[in-house]
Amino acid sequence: MGRKLLLSVLLVAGCVSGWSQLKSPDDFLGYKVGSRYTPHWKIAGYFNHVAANASSIVKLQQYGQTNEGRPLLLTFVSSAENIRNLEQIRMNNLRLANLARDRAAAIEENAPAIVWLSYNVHGNETSSSEAALMTIWALVDPSNARTKEWLKNTVVVIDPCINPDGRDRYVNWFNSVVGKNTDPKIYAREHREPWPGGRTNHYNFDLNRDWAWQTQLESRQRIVQYNQWMPQIHVDYHEQGINQPYYFAPAAQPYHEVITPFQREFQVAIGKNNAKYFDQNGWLYFTKEIFDLFYPSYGDTYPTYNGAIGMTYEQGGGGAGGAAVLNDEGDTLTLMDRATHHFTTSLATIEVSSQNASKLIKEFRKYFNDAVSAGIGEYKTYVVKNNPKNNERIASLLELLDKNGIQYGSGSGAGKGFNYHTGKEEAFTLSSGDIVISALQPRSAMVKVLFEPKSKLVDSATYDITAWALPYVYGVDAYASRDRINAGATPAKTKVTNDNTSYGYVLPWNGLQTVKAVGQMLKKGILLRYAEQPFEVNGQKFDRGSIIILRTANTSFGNNLWTEVRKAADDNNVQLYPVTTGFVDKGYDFGSGRVHPLKAPRVAMFTGEGISANDAGEVWHFFEQQIDYPVTLINVNDMGRANWNEIDVLVMPTGNYRFLNEKSSADIFRDWINKGGRVVALEGAVGALSRADFGIKPKKDDDGDKKDGKDDYNALRVFENRERDYIPGTTPGSIYKVELDNSHPLAFGYPNYYYTLKLDDVIYDFMKDRGWNVGVIKKDNQVAGFVGNKLKDRLKDGLLFAVQPMGNGSITYLTDNLLFRNFWENGKLMFCNAVFLVGQ
Ligand SMILES: [Zn+2]
Repeated sequence: MGRKLLLSVLLVAGCVSGWSQLKSPDDFLGYKVGSRYTPHWKIAGYFNHVAANASSIVKLQQYGQTNEGRPLLLTFVSSAENIRNLEQIRMNNLRLANLARDRAAAIEENAPAIVWLSYNVHGNETSSSEAALMTIWALVDPSNARTKEWLKNTVVVIDPCINPDGRDRYVNWFNSVVGKNTDPKIYAREHREPWPGGRTNHYNFDLNRDWAWQTQLESRQRIVQYNQWMPQIHVDYHEQGINQPYYFAPAAQPYHEVITPFQREFQVAIGKNNAKYFDQNGWLYFTKEIFDLFYPSYGDTYPTYNGAIGMTYEQGGGGAGGAAVLNDEGDTLTLMDRATHHFTTSLATIEVSSQNASKLIKEFRKYFNDAVSAGIGEYKTYVVKNNPKNNERIASLLELLDKNGIQYGSGSGAGKGFNYHTGKEEAFTLSSGDIVISALQPRSAMVKVLFEPKSKLVDSATYDITAWALPYVYGVDAYASRDRINAGATPAKTKVTNDNTSYGYVLPWNGLQTVKAVGQMLKKGILLRYAEQPFEVNGQKFDRGSIIILRTANTSFGNNLWTEVRKAADDNNVQLYPVTTGFVDKGYDFGSGRVHPLKAPRVAMFTGEGISANDAGEVWHFFEQQIDYPVTLINVNDMGRANWNEIDVLVMPTGNYRFLNEKSSADIFRDWINKGGRVVALEGAVGALSRADFGIKPKKDDDGDKKDGKDDYNALRVFENRERDYIPGTTPGSIYKVELDNSHPLAFGYPNYYYTLKLDDVIYDFMKDRGWNVGVIKKDNQVAGFVGNKLKDRLKDGLLFAVQPMGNGSITYLTDNLLFRNFWENGKLMFCNAVFLVGQ
């Protein structure tokens, strides 16, 4: 349609509906959508424009903002009648899901289906927000009668950009390097994004791994909205490599067993409707491959485990695609192609949902009725045992349940269940402070997926980790029981009160809230001490790592000292124990050499080109957003420019660390350690230090294959199995029990074990004379998740966490990622031990 003709149609339609100001995105932006990248502020501008000029069928809501201050938007589009009744529709939908607080009955008849389309979660998969502009226009365009028909029984929710910071990082970069004409050659610089890339959010987090954990600002704000709506359909828009065509539902195996037959069937119905339009246009696609439904924190699985049909759609071209790129087939793939494909599946998905709206509502109702009446899975109740040492761990677990709308309460009586720690069926008695989570609740599927001790994996080729049972993630004692135990009243959140002292305080080293309080005191310049050994004073017992706060060395604070200390403790809701003397009944007195001064460490971290952006982001986010403690980020290529006298602790995320092979910079590094510098090496950085001969050695394979002789034909691989042949040698993330020497400061605050998420096959030899083997795997320590059979032999009798003294300094080796996606809660304290306690 020519522009003149389009304009006249608009004018006519405008006169009829009173939307004379409503513009197409092409007219609003002044260019054809898909012909270039649209920065986020213009996307937001257009959605605002539509909401203002088609207000009878569109409602716009800003639900939050990003770390960099960009608005997060939801747009609701439906018939005028539905938009007038939007709040009633939402409430009724929650009643269908048994999630409304009121007791009014849910109305099934004629309840519209809710289709939620989420665009651009990965910032450099940029075509999808352009497709969002096309989609909203197709829905509101007065000349488009087809979409108006769909909107009669469908509410479409559009999130035009889940990750605006990442998108703009990509778009602003791309626009700054593209020439007058785009260059489709893949090796041209416009196809080579600089570090850290636009995929992730401000803190380099992958928001499509964060739906359940909600460690990130964007996810937290979005899922509050999501849980108030609970759509029947959710699509998460992505892009894949430039040589891939398009992927849509049905998804690949493995499917988690909680996924219902209807959810599986309807994926096929949606896929077939998408295929119809792709076939008409001769566009290629694939289904049932690569993108599985298992790990619960994706934009497809999370909605699926919340009763929706959750799907990922993938267009080829993200990141390297630029505005146009030559693929291996010699075709030029343009941004316009990519956006048009996403636009096509957007409309096809709305269409098929509208055609099946009443079926979707019926099945949705049934899903949630089944959930509350029978519960999903063999276990009917999960019990978390109260333990004062785990107060902070339990509090943060409850916070996670709250964020996901999972109900829980207190309980009484007794039962029998699987003990997560011993791995055995055992009897338990409920006592005060225990938490009961019933499987008979609306979000029963989420409860099962998050708590089940072992997930059933029908196919081991998954895209992600295979184990995340929350008792291991949080380090709490728990049971999974087949008994039905009713959850009583929700336990009230306790607020501590901290009494005055005249002599000093002890603060047990129990978790992150304690670390935050300690960090707050250290930042104020308060000198703390920590006890290397357990002690008893004034009739109270304290464990290793307990923080002792005295007037000594803090005299400059005068009478303000205790006020500041109490404020730090109150702010973080941690209990201070007043003491009246440094003369202990058991253990070492406060003046002993076994009680160490704890000074505020000045922390730096390597970042930039050559460092894993995700890992560096996890550390950065942890310091800034979780413990609120300063960290200086240094580009690793600038290591020669840093003033090393001002740095006490250096965190090294995974990276290639080429400087270790260059004498001058390696010398700076060694000298700094010898003078007292403390290195905290994470994951891949341990390997880099090992290769540079820093004293930790990888465990060699004892070639299991040869011993029994029956694997002589191993070299004969079958061609059609080529993608699966690597599986016996991998672990896609499984849980191992690590035995801890908790007399070492690296393991303070832990029992003598820790459950680690093992993401790779890396394990080290026990360190001989000059190192401390703090965390080791012995035999048969695998607890949950999938481990290839070749690896099972390898992952035993080796070292994961170690401290090596070196001159006046030390290196802490943390082979597994303790801050993985910032969700493995129980690892964080060990990381803090490495930063704050080790080597002090
Ligand atoms: Zn993606």
